[in-house]
Amino acid sequence: VQAVFRSNLSHLLDLMGSGKESLIFMKKRTKRLTAQWVLAAQRLAQKLGATWRDQKQILVHIGFLTEESGDVFSPRVLKGGPLGEMVQWADILAALYVLGHGLRVTVSLKELQSNLGVPPGRGSCPLTIPLPFDLIYTDYHGLQQMKQHMGLSFKKYRCRIRVIDTFGTEPAYNHEEYATLHGYRTNWGYWNLNPKQFMTMFPHTPDNSFMGFVSEELNETEKQLIKGGKASNMAVVYGKEASIWKGKEKFLGILNKYMEIHGTVYYESQRPPEVPAFVKNHGLLPQPEFQQLLRKAKLFIGFGFPYEGPAPLEAIANGCIFLQSRFSPPHSSLNHEFFRGKPTSREVFSQHPYAENFIGKPHVWTVDYNNSEEFEAAIKAIMTTQSGPPLAHTAWIGKRVHPSPGPAPQGAHAPQSPFVLAPNATHLEWAQNASLTPGAWPPVNSLRAWLAVPGRACTDTCLDHGLICEPSFFPFLNSQDAFLKLQVPCDSTESEMNHLYPAFAQPGQECYLQKEPLLFSCAGSNTKYRRLCPCRDFRKGQVALCQGCL
Ligand code: UDP
Repeated sequence: VQAVFRSNLSHLLDLMGSGKESLIFMKKRTKRLTAQWVLAAQRLAQKLGATWRDQKQILVHIGFLTEESGDVFSPRVLKGGPLGEMVQWADILAALYVLGHGLRVTVSLKELQSNLGVPPGRGSCPLTIPLPFDLIYTDYHGLQQMKQHMGLSFKKYRCRIRVIDTFGTEPAYNHEEYATLHGYRTNWGYWNLNPKQFMTMFPHTPDNSFMGFVSEELNETEKQLIKGGKASNMAVVYGKEASIWKGKEKFLGILNKYMEIHGTVYYESQRPPEVPAFVKNHGLLPQPEFQQLLRKAKLFIGFGFPYEGPAPLEAIANGCIFLQSRFSPPHSSLNHEFFRGKPTSREVFSQHPYAENFIGKPHVWTVDYNNSEEFEAAIKAIMTTQSGPPLAHTAWIGKRVHPSPGPAPQGAHAPQSPFVLAPNATHLEWAQNASLTPGAWPPVNSLRAWLAVPGRACTDTCLDHGLICEPSFFPFLNSQDAFLKLQVPCDSTESEMNHLYPAFAQPGQECYLQKEPLLFSCAGSNTKYRRLCPCRDFRKGQVALCQGCL
């Protein structure tokens, strides 16, 4: 069946069900963005002309919203609980829907079972049932539920699963045997999926897929209106939970000398004690009102938590400057409770590394908050800085979760990137093939190989050179020949399972090759090794794509 773009989202709203606060939040967002989704779909339809796109049957099982996994979110939505995930799920659903795919949405175990065709009571039976879906989007909770209730089908069909995974799952933590042997076993890892099946909120490591979410686009009139309506001394604090404000009196005091401070902290009957009296607290706002507030503000300021949500990007899109703290030493699963047990070795150098690294000045300022002078100087400088035109990182998903321009992308020579091919989203099956079969996408002529300095990961090594690590290129570097070309003097060469390989170890001049393709990893480092890194260039604001690959 051919997938046909949809321009009416009301059926999607029905599909999403009702009752839970979280669903209500998501549906409001979808409704509000309908016109923009429809416009995006029209543009794409025009671009693609009569190109055939397969309609996929897709199950979206939002595991963290099920009672069985505790559904800790829904009751907290009204109190400022993490809304970022909800934003992302709403956008994934809308993207898949406007693209014309067949959708089912489940938020309970019972619905999941009935959609999978598992007979009641047969949940843990090792039986294989034909899976009525081409793809399943879920999260870690959902993954666990499927494993428990699909019997042997889980193994058989797991390549159809896409895991929405905020933090990312690095290859070393994903490979069960390796993780167990080398101390990378965590609560979340060891699923032995292709690392590309994990889809993150931000591009943490290119080993995973970058799904993203939609940041709203403003038209010219709106931009002009915003520019005219800015109050140069108005600041909004990033953080809707009172705990975020704890111990921040000093900074708030300094900020208060220059600006009028606004907050959107949830409260029940009286002002939360953490929020000083000089702050104008609006309480948790509905999303559109929150964004109206951002339109008036000059500054959006973070105090270190929450990490990496959508709000700073919304602020920037609405013409704010985002000021945030640098972390030194960086936060990671080794030293911060929040990241403990997460299947990643990532070191986080500021509250919102994406904003710091991919947007930067003049929109994003990252300073050391331990140094009050630096902090105060930044505020003064920001007061006199033109924030410039509002910067919208247009519809990340929108661009990424694009339909296929042709028949099955496995057709190998399709000129498009796996991401542009998205959620007919065989894009991932394809990306999967691509990462294991050299020669698919992206075009290998965009490969730039670099030998990292000792102790540096490939993610960072590539960024050091203004490039991005491209894991699908690892197979091209995994040979003695590749070392030779880079003039690395190998005394001997060995092939082993190690997520840092291919790499060169200085003492002994030994070259190591990767034995297990699932362990190719952009992430990870050890001072013992100089890693051999596959980098490529990327488009500004769209890191998934290389410059010459569209
Ligand atoms: N948000 C909101 N009302 C508020 C503050 C924030 O609706 O008073 C929305 C905001 O527009 C953003 C979402 O909450 O899209 C998530 O915010 P954040 O970046 O803080 O991420 P979280 O930590 O909630 O995942």
